[in-house]
Amino acid sequence: MPDQSIVLSVVCPFFNEEEVVDFFMEKIHQVLNTLDLTYEIVCVNDGSLDRTLEKLILAKKSYPNLRILDFSRNFGKEAALTAGLDHARGKVIVPIDADLQDPPELIIDFIEKWREGYEVVVGKRVDRSTDGLLKRMTAQLYYRFHNKISNQKIPENVGDFRLITRRVVEAIQQMPENQRFMKGIFAWVGFNTCVVAYKRQKRRAGKTSFHGWGLWNFALDGITSFSTVPLRVWLYIGSLIALISLVYGSYIILRTLVFGVDLPGYASLLVSILFLGGVQLMGIGVLGEYLGRIYLETKHRPQYIVDKEY
Ligand code: UDP
Ligand code: MG
Repeated sequence: MPDQSIVLSVVCPFFNEEEVVDFFMEKIHQVLNTLDLTYEIVCVNDGSLDRTLEKLILAKKSYPNLRILDFSRNFGKEAALTAGLDHARGKVIVPIDADLQDPPELIIDFIEKWREGYEVVVGKRVDRSTDGLLKRMTAQLYYRFHNKISNQKIPENVGDFRLITRRVVEAIQQMPENQRFMKGIFAWVGFNTCVVAYKRQKRRAGKTSFHGWGLWNFALDGITSFSTVPLRVWLYIGSLIALISLVYGSYIILRTLVFGVDLPGYASLLVSILFLGGVQLMGIGVLGEYLGRIYLETKHRPQYIVDKEY
């Protein structure tokens, strides 16, 4: 529900962030108080197993413009962001990470750009040296691949940290999908966008919850949500293999007709059977990947469950 009296809603997901709650609150309020506008901070506690909720409730005593949504369990960052957007009441909304990797000072620039008339102001990480070589390399590879095969390009090195207006939020809320890949959704809705560069900071405290396997699945979510190329590519792979088989088959038949039957061929037979078997399984795997997502999508389960609001 929009509330005309609130200009800015900051949306922040928290998952096991007890160590950063106090730093975050202090920093964000310090920055927002320099801006002359009304604001609220929507904290989403995404089923934290530590004392995050306790700390948030405590923080609310000192900062009354804090709102806390407590999930019934961990639903993931994308769901937490969605909930935050659904509950935010401001004219503009800024999703931000709790760990202060996204510098809150940038919100001042965001607001300035918004006042110039932009509907979306994105923060672009120009320096990710704090992020580890492997993470940066895989991220870069991922963006390249994603953008090659999706109609909707996601800009490189742009995360969820951005400012969006209520109109953009309303557009996002029209997207009913359950499997939400926010980066893609943000890019998909479009609107008049402006980019502000920043340096990605070190995590203030605590640990990242995205690594290895989780990131890989996140990447798969992104690709399958916004591209059908992995499905279509099998048409071409299959056609190519069929064509090669046809040429090779004709050659073998001709050779047999001309030179008679020759029996050896165990190795080539085995290799081609194994190769084709592997290729087919890969194709089925990709089908399964999409089918699984269709299955989850058709259940129409809620994207998150709020246990309590404070
Ligand atoms: N987060 C969340 N639910 C999760 C995992 C993470 O709400 O299941 C939040 C986390 O508390 C933080 C933000 O998402 O505010 C980014 O997480 P993190 O710093 O672990 O990711 P990274 O910055 O390493 O990509
Ligand atoms: Mg982080």
